[in-house]
Amino acid sequence: MEKKLRFNSATIHGGQAPDPAFGAVMPPIYQTSTYAQSTPGGHKGFEYSRTHNPTRSALEKSLASIENGKHGLAFASGLAAMDAIMKLLQPGDEVISTNDLYGGSYRLFTKIFEGFGLKFHFVGMNEVAQVEAAINKNTKLIWVETPTNPMMNVVDISSIAALAKQHQLLLAVDNTFASPYIQQPLNLGADIVMHSATKYLAGHSDVILGAIIVNSDDLHQRLAFIQNASGAVPGPMDSFLTLRGIKTLHVRLQRHCENAKVVAQYLANHSKIEKVYWPGFEHHPNHEVAKKQMNDFGGMLSFIPKGADFKAAIKIVEALQLFTLAESLGGVESLAGHPASMTHASIPKAIREESGVVDALIRLSVGIEDAQDLIDDLAQAIG
Ligand SMILES: *Cc1c(COP(=O)(O)O)cnc(C)c1O
Repeated sequence: MEKKLRFNSATIHGGQAPDPAFGAVMPPIYQTSTYAQSTPGGHKGFEYSRTHNPTRSALEKSLASIENGKHGLAFASGLAAMDAIMKLLQPGDEVISTNDLYGGSYRLFTKIFEGFGLKFHFVGMNEVAQVEAAINKNTKLIWVETPTNPMMNVVDISSIAALAKQHQLLLAVDNTFASPYIQQPLNLGADIVMHSATKYLAGHSDVILGAIIVNSDDLHQRLAFIQNASGAVPGPMDSFLTLRGIKTLHVRLQRHCENAKVVAQYLANHSKIEKVYWPGFEHHPNHEVAKKQMNDFGGMLSFIPKGADFKAAIKIVEALQLFTLAESLGGVESLAGHPASMTHASIPKAIREESGVVDALIRLSVGIEDAQDLIDDLAQAIG
């Protein structure tokens, strides 16, 4: 009988036991493509590493455990995981998605899957009615990203889940920004959780990897079929690195959240800052929802310097020294980004600005350095 572990224990032990061969405490990196068979079909559960690999299997069990799901699946990247989810659909099917979402997700939906006959509706999700209004007889899936990137809107997962159930739609949640330390969408009624494990789960800016977690055996079977048939799987080394990252997820996230709070408050009190987007503020429009569904407010925030235009924002991000100007997020080191020219450059300006991603917006992924050093760096860059 397997005892159900609390979250902090699950990150370390979830679905894992010492390796039976030599007792290795960490699952070994099974760097192999194939497995010896004694007779055709006579194998130990592993035939070919696109289908199964023991290091990847260990990671998949860990993923399921930390999201409180039954099944985990690992992919070569977050976008490969999303690609697999979209392949559950057929031409003519429609998807309702958050309007302010990761640029790469928008590009995958509009530039790849629209070409295969799927239709996407991008809507604000502050009110459930906005989502309900976009439902028609072809709708099959609701895609939620929360907190949203980079505007930090928080979508009420349980309310959308209730709507999805009522209309028999699948609800998928991109949980990359929050991580399961902060919110567990399956517990809130979602059918599918997706991660860019590249970010908080792996946590050290050294791997690209994607994840899907589900409870339904049927969904698991269909997604595992796509995983093997389309073949976008991660290698054993990347699976190992992600597994190692997950073991410290809870301690890293605790510090990410503490530091982001200090940075958010510093910026909010700064005379040269116009606006700070962080769900922990009581005046944040979705603060109540955030308090209800999140254990903490995360390590991400965005801000707009007073009177700044495109050039002024670029000047600030260039002046930062401890914050690295880079794409991505969720690593132990602090990163700064300029969405309009970086992560969200693939979204047309008009659509981008409709959701608030203006030219002067700066996004921070607050790392786990000393908070005072981060503040000193922001102070000198803002001037
Ligand atoms: C990075 C990211 C993705 C894409 O993941 P990759 O691992 O880069 O393919 C998807 N969603 C969100 C919210 C992300 O931040």
